[in-house]
Amino acid sequence: MAKVYVALGANLENPSAQLDDACIALKELAESSSFQISPYYGSVPMGEVVQPDYINAVASLETQLSPIELLDALQAIEQQQGRVRLEHWGPRTLDLDMLLYDNVTLTSKRLTLPHYGMKQRSFVLVPLFDLAPELVLPCGTPLRSLITPSLQAELQELDTDH
Ligand code: ATP
Ligand code: MG
Ligand code: MG
Repeated sequence: MAKVYVALGANLENPSAQLDDACIALKELAESSSFQISPYYGSVPMGEVVQPDYINAVASLETQLSPIELLDALQAIEQQQGRVRLEHWGPRTLDLDMLLYDNVTLTSKRLTLPHYGMKQRSFVLVPLFDLAPELVLPCGTPLRSLITPSLQAELQELDTDH
């Protein structure tokens, strides 16, 4: 059984409802009652594309799926929720990125673990810290050491009742 962390992001077609639906789908991948979800956060988009603000969160779950099987499952959920890939870092109904799969590190054509951008992204680090404040990354860095007030100030925690 592997413990995995998945980043959720959406900025089209009722992003908060997109995350709610993604949680239902992710729960179905999770063993027994292992699914957990962070608070939802509002964030401004990365990159140069003009697009709506995002809602982001991080989920954790235990699964018997292999890393590539889990990637397939995450991409199937993105497709079910109408993901269309038009431009790099462009707007999307749902993005599901696999941040961590136990302490696995791998680089392959379809999958890099840990997710290559996670240490630079406030909208990943802050909700991950909500779920797992004692987490140590596979490189040996304690997550806590990456969390700063300016990082937290980049995000707005949203009132949701999940
Ligand atoms: P970014 O990866 O910078 O957040 P993005 O999420 O918008 O950008 P996508 O279009 O969702 O990028 O994914 C591009 C490709 O990344 C996917 O086809 C997938 O094969 C690959 N990929 C590599 N590593 C991962 C990972 N850890 N989680 C999800 N996808 C990954
Ligand atoms: Mg992404
Ligand atoms: Mg992605």
